Amino acid sequence: MPDHSPSDRLLQLLQTRFGYSEFRPRQAAVCQAVADGRDALVVMPTGAGKSLCYQIPGLARGGTTLVISPLVALIEDQVNRLLSRGVKAGRIHSGRGREESRETFRSYLRGELEFLFIAPERLAVPGFAEMLKQHPPSLIAVDEAHCISHWGHDFRPDYRLVGERLEGLKNTPIVALTATATPLVQKDICVQLKLRDPSLFIHGFRRENLAIQVVDALPSERADRISAVLADPERRPAIVYAPTRKKSEELARELRGLKAAAYHAGMTSADREDVSVAFLNGTSDVIVATVAFGMGIDKANVRTVVHAALPGSLESYYQEIGRGGRDGLPSQAILFHCYSDRKTHEFFLDRDHPDTAVLAKVRAAVPPTGSVLADELRGSVRGVDAEDFEKALEKLWMHGGVKIEHGEAVSLGIEGWKKPYEEQRKHRLAQLDSMQAFTESGGCRMTTLIRHFGDTEDGTRACGICDRCAPVANVRVLDELERGIVAQTLASLSGRDGQAVGRLFDEATSFDSRVTRSGFERILSALARARMIEVLQSEFEKDGKVISYRRIALLAAGKRAKAEDVAAIEIDGDSMAGARAAKVKKKLGTTRRAGDGRAPVVADPERASELPKLFEDLRAWRLAEAKKKGVPAFRVLTDRVLYAICEERPTTEDALRMVPGMGPKLVQAYGEAILGRVNGA
Ligand code: ADP
Ligand code: ZN
Repeated sequence: MPDHSPSDRLLQLLQTRFGYSEFRPRQAAVCQAVADGRDALVVMPTGAGKSLCYQIPGLARGGTTLVISPLVALIEDQVNRLLSRGVKAGRIHSGRGREESRETFRSYLRGELEFLFIAPERLAVPGFAEMLKQHPPSLIAVDEAHCISHWGHDFRPDYRLVGERLEGLKNTPIVALTATATPLVQKDICVQLKLRDPSLFIHGFRRENLAIQVVDALPSERADRISAVLADPERRPAIVYAPTRKKSEELARELRGLKAAAYHAGMTSADREDVSVAFLNGTSDVIVATVAFGMGIDKANVRTVVHAALPGSLESYYQEIGRGGRDGLPSQAILFHCYSDRKTHEFFLDRDHPDTAVLAKVRAAVPPTGSVLADELRGSVRGVDAEDFEKALEKLWMHGGVKIEHGEAVSLGIEGWKKPYEEQRKHRLAQLDSMQAFTESGGCRMTTLIRHFGDTEDGTRACGICDRCAPVANVRVLDELERGIVAQTLASLSGRDGQAVGRLFDEATSFDSRVTRSGFERILSALARARMIEVLQSEFEKDGKVISYRRIALLAAGKRAKAEDVAAIEIDGDSMAGARAAKVKKKLGTTRRAGDGRAPVVADPERASELPKLFEDLRAWRLAEAKKKGVPAFRVLTDRVLYAICEERPTTEDALRMVPGMGPKLVQAYGEAILGRVNGA
């Protein structure tokens, strides 16, 4: 690593103003470049310490640093932290009173502030940018900079205009910071903000304790293969990502011998609550989640992340495997896929990107001058269902085809929306291509991922633990020791069927003391795969506690197995061995069966008439919130989520978190406001 020893002055600021003794890796280099007046782009994972990367250089440069940040809550949080350290920080945003904001701005003009935080839309307020020009800040920091790019998922049109609106401040250096940006988004950020020869600091994507494996498997084999992998207790707790809700339920049922439960947005909040509590406290140790929903699961000791199908992009894949091994201990990420997985993605892609003609139809219904309320617009567009309408409107807004003001007033925007919309769709297909290419790539998996994120400095060191760096041994037939143990075990079972695994192991050790428990488990797994035995999950009660254990039942093939049959048994010598392909008939208590009579969560706008009061309350609140933020109402919460809240009427934050479409972030941002309304209703 090059020597980036920070100048004494920066270190001194770190120590005197923040009370930290030293810079974290990379911080010093960023601070130095930015303090020297270079434009910079910083992409580092959450928690890496990005804030200091503009705060220290800001203080070093003197004057005021202008910080642009997308969310009021983030601004408040940062300002409070700075104030508590005695740093002079102020903020101007829609959540504060006019007079307060004026006073803050006066302090800015008097040069009393070290940091001024604003939301991007502030730059559009008449006169604001002009005033900044009179008293230019000494540094501009753009936080959450990925919001600038419409390739990202958090795109905000106001952010896109930041570059243009900062035109008058050409001499002030800019540092853009984000935790998530692929090279495409990075480039977009640099272009949009017009960064001049920026220093790029893209670091921290390497995960040292995650061993990545990619397995080509037909959909019909996957449940068995996943069961085999997870049969090894050391590979649990585990998260299994399934591509759809239906698949997550099917898989949870099919993962035999494991306490597995489905977890997805279509389940009732009560069911999801049960499942996540059981997973967090260890009662169940496999959760089968849909990708959209795994976010709510925060557990440090997840040993394995399994993908039961190909993810849609390397970005989401990386994020999902990142939930493994947060405790730093060895963990695995195993991806099952085959060529046909792509079709499923293409289906979703079509669903999420209505035809350009649908967008055009919606846009054609917008009056040429003035505006129309989104609800009225929906009423006047024929032949487009509510869901497609919301999607089409959102896409039109994203690509500038319509403007939405005051949260719901839709007016015509630019003509050139079609091209970027169609490009975005193409981009999604390209993401799918890169995901597929990853499965086929020859080099180290971790290195491939790191390169994908544009971390060129780190990207060459092979991880040593992925399936490319450490290819797994091939399947082989049983060796002599194993054959002896199999013969002994089968004989013992034909004498007494259904014996506990522990007991059979004891017998095996007295037969040959070299056999280890994990070796024995591996043999059982090979027997189960050969359909000679079946592993049954049993329970008994002792001192009021339910203790579960496994028993082995002999199957027909096991009963009539001859020496040559035993010699032909294949054992998986790879690191996925230890596997006990368990075929268990245990009822999985926590698993929800499909069609169990529970009503699905209703997300049907037609139901609105049945939920008038709360629904209207929530809508009014949402609109106010949208106005405050300067975004369309559906960006706060979609109708679908509002219906779900009305349907489920959560009264606590935990319950709210379980409402389909609500994640931890949304609960943090809006929980109090929503619960206040539900509880008041
Ligand atoms: P990010 O914005 O990258 O998610 P933050 O800037 O919020 O991360 O920093 C994460 C945490 O690390 C904060 O609590 C911060 O105070 C702490 N931190 C950052 N840099 C240092 C440092 N050099 N020494 C000690 N703590 C640090
Ligand atoms: Zn590797």
